[in-house]
Amino acid sequence: MSALIDEATRIAREFDYPADQVQRGVAEYIKQSNDGLAQEGTTLSQIPTFVTAVPNGSEKGLYLAVDLGGTNFRVCSVQLHGDTTFSLTQSKIMIPRELMASGTSKDLFLFLARQIEAFLRIHHNEHFEAHQRRRRDGNNEEDLFDLGFTFSFPVRQCGINRGTLIRWTKGFNIPDAVGHDVCALLQSAINELHLPVRVAALVNDTVGTLMARSYTSPGETGTFLGAIFGTGTNGAYVEKIDRITKLQKMEDAHYDTSTGEMIINAEWGSFDNHLSVLPSTVYDHDLDADSNNPGVQMFEKRVSGMFLGEILRLALLAMHNNPDLGLFKPSKTSKVVTPENSTLYRQWGLDTSLLSQVEADNTAEMEDVKAALKDHLKIENPSNDECQAVKILVHAIGKRAARLSAVPLAAILIHTRKLETDDIVDVGVDGSLVEFYPNFEGYMLEALHEVPQVGAAGAKKVRVGISKDGSGVGAALIALVASKDETLQNP
Ligand code: BGC
Ligand code: MG
Repeated sequence: MSALIDEATRIAREFDYPADQVQRGVAEYIKQSNDGLAQEGTTLSQIPTFVTAVPNGSEKGLYLAVDLGGTNFRVCSVQLHGDTTFSLTQSKIMIPRELMASGTSKDLFLFLARQIEAFLRIHHNEHFEAHQRRRRDGNNEEDLFDLGFTFSFPVRQCGINRGTLIRWTKGFNIPDAVGHDVCALLQSAINELHLPVRVAALVNDTVGTLMARSYTSPGETGTFLGAIFGTGTNGAYVEKIDRITKLQKMEDAHYDTSTGEMIINAEWGSFDNHLSVLPSTVYDHDLDADSNNPGVQMFEKRVSGMFLGEILRLALLAMHNNPDLGLFKPSKTSKVVTPENSTLYRQWGLDTSLLSQVEADNTAEMEDVKAALKDHLKIENPSNDECQAVKILVHAIGKRAARLSAVPLAAILIHTRKLETDDIVDVGVDGSLVEFYPNFEGYMLEALHEVPQVGAAGAKKVRVGISKDGSGVGAALIALVASKDETLQNP
């Protein structure tokens, strides 16, 4: 074997995450999640969402929804037909980098409101014009669209359409928004443009995913958990209200208790920020140290799309800089890689789609690996050993992420005793990793199965389904519930 493959194999072993570590992770997760239900300000936030019921597929109406994710902003209108089906019209735009990390919150929210305006003009122009006419005539009669706002960042909610931003995650960093009510920020940008829209609900994408899945595939008990494995990672699940003991201490909270349940947004990206059980390599360490939020989102930094490409980049760069290995160094076949010509040297320079592409390769000549190296890194004609080394690392990094993903899943199933009471536990998932990384879900379920309190029998009860772009539909569903709520306050 070549030194290159030897070294790649050695590094790959650092990403092993065996069953006994999964189990330790689960025990710690249960502990941190109980802390999060009892008090505010804990590592694992366990945020009450004030959504107290899941849909059953009979909901009807036309709602607007917007989704500010880690990468894109989507605007859609959703017609719920009331028979578990819906039609959705949407537009999607990539969020300009400068708005994510250097502008003000005003810049960002005005940008969002402008996208809503453009969407209304194209798809709901009659309604839009009628509103403008009434306004000009001084007619105050309102005929507003209720909008569900999917906001995929940690927010301390105190009602269904009120919540203050706790911190930014993923690529976002706009300090002046932290601590402010994001619904009010969006509503005031909407008002500035005089749009016929009321922000009726604030929704985390995981909660939207859960709701959408529950609407489209209602079982006897509805969906139990919604999770995102995309640019970021997180999950939301149905909790018993009397277990959320911190609610009693939240004086500003108002909610309906009739179902006895409330969806909790776990914000599991921040599980174990102090690294008591999470696996760590030197690459994990360096990634965090150079990130814009060191010390937080430590689970997310080992699991989600935005970070896996960077972990790989750091491992490849270390090998490239090792003179004995000759990775991507001049040779008869491969071109020289320099800071000027390759993203190998640039922070966040590698997209997770590279990992999916490499992992999917099953050709003898490793054609897909070669194509990926060329597209993403501008590396031409890599040797077979170089391709093999990349494959080994990609596999190890992706598999660790998928196995880690079983930790919150197992912990939540165990702590809610869901497997003891139900025959089928429905889980809705979304995000680029579950969608495109080959067998991500398979590795996750395999690790779930290895947790003794879940076991093969428990894992068999878990029914995982993709709820593609569910967060838009989910936000519409929550806007529906909220619009019927008499106690709803204007943001
Ligand atoms: C955010 C979560 C979100 C997740 C998936 C994380 O960075 O903190 O609120 O649900 O990404 O988009
Ligand atoms: Mg998203």
